Formats: sequence, C-alpha cells, structure tokens
Amino acid sequence: MIAGDRCTRACGFCAVATAKPLPLEADEPARVAEATRRMRLRHVVITAVARDDLADGGADHFRRTIEAVRVANPGIVIEVLTPDFLDRDEAIEMVLTAEPEIFNHNLETVRRLTPSVRSRATYDRSLSVLGKVKARKGDAIHTKSGLMLGLGETEAELFTAMEDLRRVGCNILTLGQYLQPTLKHLPVVEFVPPVRFAEYKLVAERLGFLHVASGPMVRSSYHADELPLNLQHPGNKLQ
Ligand code: SF4
Repeated sequence: MIAGDRCTRACGFCAVATAKPLPLEADEPARVAEATRRMRLRHVVITAVARDDLADGGADHFRRTIEAVRVANPGIVIEVLTPDFLDRDEAIEMVLTAEPEIFNHNLETVRRLTPSVRSRATYDRSLSVLGKVKARKGDAIHTKSGLMLGLGETEAELFTAMEDLRRVGCNILTLGQYLQPTLKHLPVVEFVPPVRFAEYKLVAERLGFLHVASGPMVRSSYHADELPLNLQHPGNKLQ
C-alpha cells in the first residue's frame, strides 16, 4: 500500500486510519521497486489510500511506482487496486500510461448500501472508472472489481451489481465475506454459507466474467496471480 497509511475517507468497513495524510515520499516508488525485486515477485498488487487532498488523487505516485516496479522486475504482472480518483479522466489516464496489466477498483457493495458503507464514493462513479479504463485500453488490460457480502444486500441486488459490472466490461470479480474489523465498524448482517458463494461464482461466470474468485475468505488480492493463461496481458513478458 503506497501513499501513506492515513486515508482522507472513512469507509464503515475499513480499518485504515482516517486522518490528515502526510506528504508523499518521493523515494517510495524506488523503495517499493526494491522490495518487490528482493522478494522476486511475479505478481504484485499495488494499492493506496484515497488521497483526496492531492490534486491528482495520488495518480502520478501510482504511475511512478508502477514504472519503477516494472524496471526492477522484468516480466512482473502489475495489478493496481485504486481509489476512484473522483472519476477524473486525467488521473485515470495517468495511471494507465504506466500500463498495469490489471486495473482493480472495488465496487465494495450493492447500490442501495453504498452510501452507508462507503465514504465519499458513489456506485455510479466506481462503475464509470472501470468503464473508462476498459474503453481506453480494451483487451490490453483486465479490469477487476470486488464486492463484500454479508452487509445486508439481497441476492437480486447482488446480481444487479454483477450485471452492472459486466455492462462496463469488467473482466474479473472477487466476492468475499465482510468481517467487522472492530466494534466501531459496520456489523455483519449475515454470514453467507460457502455453498452460496459457489452458486454466485456460477452466476458470475454465466454473466461473462472471465475469472471469478468467490468464497468466505476471498479478498481483492486473493490468489491474484492465479489467472488462467489466456487472461494474461497480450504484451506482457510473463515467463
Ligand atoms: S477509501 Fe479505501 S482506504 Fe480509505 S477508508 Fe475507504 S476503503 Fe479504507
């Protein structure tokens, strides 16, 4: 996670601290690149807190980090898990110039619950971000999103969210059980049985997602490197 550990937002499910962020560290991209090189990673997920205090939402910091990691790790698959950048075209474009293989932005929950679950985010804005990435890069990128289950959503609402994601061309979906990080966070409304996660995976695959990870313990980066070969970036140098 780059750009600090203080977020400008306060989502009801998230344990990251909400506070005035510190200035970006100019050498962070190089340090991340060195860490990934030492760990000999084949696949890295780069995420960040929401930096609404910055004019570009931290997009250029993402770009610099992706580029540094790429140089230090030829052949690595780079997945970004980004905030919504307030849906600003320039910020989205800035990240895309560094050509990540996978662009993940989480929808997190269904439309009805979004205002009570997410902070300063909207359902449509998140769909718009994913749609813009796909429109700009087409098959040269894989878009990805995730939903937490057990927050009180209905099955019909969940299926609508899946359809909405497919409508903007989203390729990869993660579905996992929401767990309450502390008593101050949103309560768990339901523990969804594994068998229903399995059913939802089939529904999502029928809707056209190319890869679906669905299970109680699934998170955004769950086995992120286990994509079928035909999902890998046509231009990437993965061995
Ligand atoms: S924007 Fe992201 S990091 Fe910030 S509180 Fe929400 S989920 Fe957590």
